[in-house]
Amino acid sequence: MSLTPQHPLSPGSTIGILGGGQLGRMLSLAASRLGFQCHIYDPQPAGPAAHVSRSETNTSYEDTEAVLGFAQSCDVVTYEFENVPALTAKTAANAKPLHPNAQVLTVAQDRLTEKTFIRDKANVPVALFESVDSIHDLKRAVKKLGLPAVLKTRRLGYDGKGQMIIKTEADITKAWTMMNDAPAILEQFIPFRREVSVVAARSLNGETAAYPLIENVHKNHILHKSTSPAQDDDGRAQALAINIMTALNYVGVMATEFFELEDGTLLVNEIAPRVHNSGHWTQDAACVDQFELHIRAIAGWPLGDTAPKHTVEMTNLIGDDVDHWKSLAEDPKTFLHLYGKRDVKPDRKMGHVNRIIG
Ligand code: ATP
Ligand code: MG
Repeated sequence: MSLTPQHPLSPGSTIGILGGGQLGRMLSLAASRLGFQCHIYDPQPAGPAAHVSRSETNTSYEDTEAVLGFAQSCDVVTYEFENVPALTAKTAANAKPLHPNAQVLTVAQDRLTEKTFIRDKANVPVALFESVDSIHDLKRAVKKLGLPAVLKTRRLGYDGKGQMIIKTEADITKAWTMMNDAPAILEQFIPFRREVSVVAARSLNGETAAYPLIENVHKNHILHKSTSPAQDDDGRAQALAINIMTALNYVGVMATEFFELEDGTLLVNEIAPRVHNSGHWTQDAACVDQFELHIRAIAGWPLGDTAPKHTVEMTNLIGDDVDHWKSLAEDPKTFLHLYGKRDVKPDRKMGHVNRIIG
């Protein structure tokens, strides 16, 4: 699809969002601040995004007629998760501008395609990796990369699911059995000093904007805490992220996750073609937040100011952490964001808090 509309989308226009979770909710809230309406597409009715949006369609992503009707009712279509089926994205893109474009999804849905693209098309370094489709491939890949190494499914992994660290030769067979014959990649294990990410945007005319570096700490494979601006931000990570976005002809907000080595080398772990949990701190940093930034980018608006006025620490409220909402609401330096999810489940992201620390 071409980069239409060329003109800024007028307030009152409708933005379609594929996916109806908390990211869709916060995108919809940001869009409404600018006078837009949102139409949510989510097989599950009455989710976090639909609560705060004008309309919703609740049909399977495979129902191309429903996807077409949804896209036709919108002025521009975007998505809040990267596993939008390829046909759904193409169907929407044939009717209305889809940002980020459908090729971005093809790249980001498959770790092999993603890492190959980042290394060869964007010329940005990633950890060494090998494609693995059999136990034979895995043994060969272990010989090549050495141990420890990480075996990951190519598709549909999140929060560390579908991956396993291989420490010794004895782990090889067990690891392959766990893959259940799913196509995989083996990646060198990176002894990183810290994990950092960049949240950046690219507009319809190629203008870019990036927030300062974010330092991330995970707990049980789920993001626990993000702090920004992180220490020692020399702008290198932002430049690498923007190289990837340019190579993808990207429009919207994208997150890039990095491993930082002891000597400062940056290796990309993965990209998320959407607003990202590590960018939630922007909501209370007194600049344009990542959700508004994404809406501005896909609507052809100027991107706005991404320079934060505060150092902010974001902590996720996972499962029954959310029970502390009353005491969190009492702290004057803490901003509470709840997603309106009815059922609390152990690993479910229920909300987050942003605490101003500087
Ligand atoms: P998420 O949904 O949190 O992004 P994911 O399932 O997409 O997770 P990755 O981002 O690939 O998986 O990995 C999750 C975490 O596992 C990383 O943030 C990092 O802490 C660790 N990890 C992944 N790959 C490696 C590696 N090659 N070397 C060292 N640690 C790794
Ligand atoms: Mg990740």
